[in-house]
Amino acid sequence: MRTPLIAGNWKMNASLASNAVLLAGVSGGATSVRAELAVCVPSPYLAQVQSVLAETGVRWGAQDMSAHEQGAYTGEVSARMLLEFGCSYVIAGHSERRSYHAENDLQVAQKAALAIQAGLTPIVCVGETLQQREQGLTDEVVSTQLGVVLEALGEHAGRIVVAYEPVWAIGTGKTATPEMAQQVHATIRSLIAERSAGSATQVRVLYGGSMKPDNAAELLAMPDIDGGLIGGASLNAPDFLAIAQAA
Ligand code: PEP
Repeated sequence: MRTPLIAGNWKMNASLASNAVLLAGVSGGATSVRAELAVCVPSPYLAQVQSVLAETGVRWGAQDMSAHEQGAYTGEVSARMLLEFGCSYVIAGHSERRSYHAENDLQVAQKAALAIQAGLTPIVCVGETLQQREQGLTDEVVSTQLGVVLEALGEHAGRIVVAYEPVWAIGTGKTATPEMAQQVHATIRSLIAERSAGSATQVRVLYGGSMKPDNAAELLAMPDIDGGLIGGASLNAPDFLAIAQAA
């Protein structure tokens, strides 16, 4: 039995003042949901988030980390640093990192491996562009992206969370239909099963891409959708909690 995970990705939207309001709202409603809740926040706010969420049961994480352990990498944040701020999760390979920062599958795999080594759970994002979907390449793209990560993780493959995020659905208001999403989630689960039979039933596969209170229930009802990675709607506590209630 996989506990659903509803993880917020605040992206580069935050301030000390707005975080205080949002975190109070999320933590205040957390006991009314059965799903696990987490927020992935900009790294400068991790200390604030750690102090507010410490005793609430809501977990937190970062949106990216370095593919290196330590050293002369100006501007980078390491897995060990995230751990010092109590992070449980770190997003790896979000499509915005892949497209605006040219992150490739190998770097994503290195980040996921280092995260696990440090004791964090990477939320590994995969997903196709609209053009790739229209060309019938969805399964191939997702299999390649995830395959590189699974290969690098070997026996630790069961320790990741996967987020299927069709690029064309992120922040656009367009959502994959539950059937479209389920089909890709099933492919992802069978890929994990091929590499690590025991892990396939335990790895949580989240859907991400314009998930909102009004479409969450039908997506989360699908057998292989184990939660959501939520962008825009995670910035509003009632919306975020309403999605969690649907899980
Ligand atoms: C995301 O950034 O991971 C995401 C799913 O964004 P949104 O919910 O806004 O589409």
